[in-house]
Amino acid sequence: MKTASQYVTELLNFIDNSPSPWHVTDSVKKQLSANNFQQLKEKNSWGLQKNRGYYIIRDDSSIIAFMTGNKPLSETGYKIIGAHTDSPGLRVKPKAAHYEGGLLRLGVEVYGGPILATFSDRDLSLAGRISYKNDKGLIKTQLVDFKKPVLRLPNLAIHLNRKVNEEGLKFHKQNELPLILSCANKQLPEQYFYKLLGQLSGLESKQILSWELNVYDTQKGSFWGVEQEFYTNSQLDNLASCHAGLTALLDKKIQYPDATLVCAFFDHEEIGSESCKGADGSLLTDVLTRIAFSLGNNHENYLRALAQSFMISVDMAHAYQPNFPTAYEPNHKVMINQGLVIKTNANHRYSSESISEAMFINWCQQENVPYQYYSHRTDIPCGSTIGPMTSAKLGIRSIDVGNPMWAMHSIRESAGVDDHLHLIKVLQRFFDNS
Ligand code: ZN
Repeated sequence: MKTASQYVTELLNFIDNSPSPWHVTDSVKKQLSANNFQQLKEKNSWGLQKNRGYYIIRDDSSIIAFMTGNKPLSETGYKIIGAHTDSPGLRVKPKAAHYEGGLLRLGVEVYGGPILATFSDRDLSLAGRISYKNDKGLIKTQLVDFKKPVLRLPNLAIHLNRKVNEEGLKFHKQNELPLILSCANKQLPEQYFYKLLGQLSGLESKQILSWELNVYDTQKGSFWGVEQEFYTNSQLDNLASCHAGLTALLDKKIQYPDATLVCAFFDHEEIGSESCKGADGSLLTDVLTRIAFSLGNNHENYLRALAQSFMISVDMAHAYQPNFPTAYEPNHKVMINQGLVIKTNANHRYSSESISEAMFINWCQQENVPYQYYSHRTDIPCGSTIGPMTSAKLGIRSIDVGNPMWAMHSIRESAGVDDHLHLIKVLQRFFDNS
């Protein structure tokens, strides 16, 4: 088995190569293809075989990979790892380019709940997908990535914002978030932006019809701490979980699983999951149903499989930061590099319950991996994950777990090196037959 540092190096490379949820899905697809997983199209009929790896992609940014089991589905069920491909941030508006004060700026929309101040004074770039018309008049889609820093949100000097350290760094979402792209005085800003996208994609600008573009930080991930025991990058929430899940699925020691193993990575978690490809949509139900029917099961056998299934909803957790002691529940301080976090909430914002917790603790014990419990402060509203909605839709047992991290939804998040290995080990145990 690789060391924790080796796995984290792979994770940081995975993130550096995946600057938008469309790129995340493409990165996962490349790894699956390299491991002989076969892509399936939803519009086609599926002729599945047992002990084979497959994957489907819906709308370029949600991906479900699965390995069919050795035993009948009705006897073993599905073992599912769920995570999300998106991260909160800034997205470019359709008519984004405009002049202000002799500068060319791009108007942006806030996607999900980022810590906006962390986007200031960073070397920002753009990546996403564009849709265009090809020579035959067909609509096609292409991934694009500027790769170099092309945008910036410069801060106001402290001399012009004297109370910034007392009152906090705030940006008005409409007026103060447009990003500076250029000082060149181009006459028609929108056409100029289309031209830039044309140069980037190798298309003629008139072919480009629409786009979705994510603002990202070009700074690469790195290790830090005197013993390099921490790591940092953007999008740790939740690409660290996607990476751990995928690593468990591709683990060579799990050659012939009894159960059907599933990794479901959804877009749109950060905005509530309600979309054709989100966890609150039909995607996972559609895929699980089709797996069952394609393997020759009837509806009753499908329901029998669900009754024996289990889902681990993996998403990052809030580690204790001693500079802010009052933010945390005093008896549930989660510490970096001290084990996996089991998230509980009596109001079911997390899907964990005592039986799924016991099963998960058993897997941690089998792998000698430490675990910790997280409970939110009772006087602050708790966040949620894809766990409760997925478990409700399918009627399957589920647990919410994740690794501790600092600065969730900052453009530069941090976590612990040892914890990433802990997570991979327990997910491998979950997928293993024993
Ligand atoms: Zn998350």
